[in-house]
Amino acid sequence: MAKAKTSKSTSTAAKTKTTKTAAKKKVKASVEVSKAKKKKEEVQEESTDVSIEQKLIALYTLQQIDSQVDKIRIIRGELPLEVQDLEDEIVGLETRLENYRQGIESYEKSISEKQQAIKESEALITRYKEQQMNVRNNREYDSLTKEIEFQILEIQLSEKRISEFTVSFEATKTDVEDAESTLSERKNDLEIKKGELDDIVAETEKEEERLVDKSDENEKFIEDRLLKAYKRIRKNARNGLAVVQIERDACGGCFSKIPPQRHLDIRMHKKIIVCEYCGRILVDSSIAEEVKY
Ligand SMILES: [Zn+2]
Repeated sequence: MAKAKTSKSTSTAAKTKTTKTAAKKKVKASVEVSKAKKKKEEVQEESTDVSIEQKLIALYTLQQIDSQVDKIRIIRGELPLEVQDLEDEIVGLETRLENYRQGIESYEKSISEKQQAIKESEALITRYKEQQMNVRNNREYDSLTKEIEFQILEIQLSEKRISEFTVSFEATKTDVEDAESTLSERKNDLEIKKGELDDIVAETEKEEERLVDKSDENEKFIEDRLLKAYKRIRKNARNGLAVVQIERDACGGCFSKIPPQRHLDIRMHKKIIVCEYCGRILVDSSIAEEVKY
C-alpha cells in the first residue's frame, strides 16, 4: 500500500499500472478469501460430524466418571447406616441392662426384707415360748401356741418368697451376663465398623475428589444445553444412568427394544438419540470402546 501511494505521486503511467496491479491483487485476494471460506466450511462440516461423536464420547465418559462417584458414595453411605444400627442396638442393650440391674436390686431388697421378717418372727417365737413358761392358765398358753404357729407360717411364707425371689434374681443375673456379653461384642463390632468407615472415607475421599475434578473437566467439553439434559436425566433415572450403551438391540437402561432404523441412526453418530421409552441417551459400542475408563 505504501508503495502504491508513492507510485501515484511519481507518474500517471505508473498510476495506471499500479491500479491494474491493485485490481489484480484484489481479484486474487477475493479468490483466496472464497477459497479459504470454502475450506472453512468444509472443516466446519467435518467438525460438526466429529463433534457429535466427540460429544457422545464426552457424555459417555462423564457417565462413567459420575457412576464411579455414585458407587463410592453408595459404599460410604451404607457404612454409616451399619454404624448407626450398631449404635442403636448398643443403646437398647444398655437400657435393658439398666432395667435388669434395677430388677436385681429390687430382688435383693425383697430377699433381705423377708430375711429380716424371718428374724423378727423367730424373735417373737422365742418370746412367746418364754411367755408360755409363765402362763396362768391353759387359755393363755393356747393363745400363745396359736401366735407361735402363726409366726411359723409367716416364716414358711417368707422362705417361699425368698426362694421365688432367688430364682428370679439368678435368672436376671444370667440375663445381665448375656446382655453384657452381647453388649461387649456389639461395642467391639462398632469399633471395627467405625475403623472401616474411617479407612474407607480416607481412601475414597481422595479418589472421589479426583473423579469429581475429572467430571468437572469433562463437563467443559459438553455444551450447556446438553449437560443440563444429562443432569436432568441422571437425576430422574434409576442408578443415575443418563447415558447407556445399547445391549442386544435394547436400551441398556430400560431394556426396551430399539427399532432397526433407530439403531442405525445411533451408529451413524449424526445426532444425539435418546431412548423412546426412558429418555436416556443412547450410544453404541464404538463410542463405549473409545471411552477408556
Ligand atoms: Zn430406555
